[in-house]
Amino acid sequence: MKTIGVLTSGGDAPGMNAAVRAVVRSGIFHGLKVMGIKQGYKGLIEGNIEEMNLSSVADIIHRGGTTLRTARSEEFKTDEGRGKALNVLKVFGIDGLVVIGGDGSFRGANALSKEGIKTIGVPGTIDNDLGYTDYTIGFDTAINTVIDAISKIRDTTTSHGRANIIEVMGRHCGDIALYAGLAGGAESVIVPEEEFSADAVCKKLIKGRNRGKLHSIIILAEHIVNPYELSEEIEEKTGITTRVTILGHIQRGGSPSAFDRILASKMGAKAVELLTSEETGRVVGVKGNEIINLPIDEALKIENKFDKNMYNLTKILSI
Ligand code: ADP
Repeated sequence: MKTIGVLTSGGDAPGMNAAVRAVVRSGIFHGLKVMGIKQGYKGLIEGNIEEMNLSSVADIIHRGGTTLRTARSEEFKTDEGRGKALNVLKVFGIDGLVVIGGDGSFRGANALSKEGIKTIGVPGTIDNDLGYTDYTIGFDTAINTVIDAISKIRDTTTSHGRANIIEVMGRHCGDIALYAGLAGGAESVIVPEEEFSADAVCKKLIKGRNRGKLHSIIILAEHIVNPYELSEEIEEKTGITTRVTILGHIQRGGSPSAFDRILASKMGAKAVELLTSEETGRVVGVKGNEIINLPIDEALKIENKFDKNMYNLTKILSI
């Protein structure tokens, strides 16, 4: 292994830069030439590639987004598109690749590995929706952004004696809602993994009002119910004025938390270490305090388990 490439792909996440920095710096430490591939697989197909040095990753550990930029590429999903990518890798002499992204990006990395390029995946997504790892890079920053928003919304909600539905991201995973809901002291947390009942939310609001509660925060994971329709239903059934806040892409941005920077640094360095040992088709993750790695095929089959105990605790603490 002489030359490796690094790219960020799919949805961006805070901490991706810290991971790229770790790949570049530890790659150079191990005596490798490191190439930065811009705009994910799209840039790989187009040959949008530059050699990176120690200074290319200076001053980025604290920045959100990804300086390598990201993209989605339908072309890369085709044999022809991947054929082009393989040719580009050959032209640039890249024999190992670190892919920082989510499950889609890992499927792409696995396909390249099967076609002879040594690839290692690093999980970068705010959704925390990969079952093989306890945490993904960006998740911690995202939940901190959400609890900051909850605090601000709580101020105005309390002043008016209202309720507020805060819709958060997560694709089909309730972790952002659950973790931010517990940390933010939300009255109700609605997640895709648990049955949704508008009546249960209303009942809780009425109980809270009857004991003099001045505010109610309802954290709603995306893609479950239209938040505006839910607010109408709540107003009709409880008489409590209910506002809606959709946090949207604010959750994707911002300076990564210390947790995400450390996780990204450890994972990026591990990915390079695996490449130097000629490993391929593997993903890096974290279990407890251990940085782990396993085959991509295996990792993608592991079901993402919802933390039911934490969900129950959230319910108990918000009675
Ligand atoms: P994420 O990595 O965040 O899950 P996507 O699912 O959009 O994001 O995947 C990112 C990119 O990975 C896609 O645009 C595509 O180029 C590539 N990709 C996704 N699925 C596959 C697949 N089954 N085979 C090859 N490439 C894939």
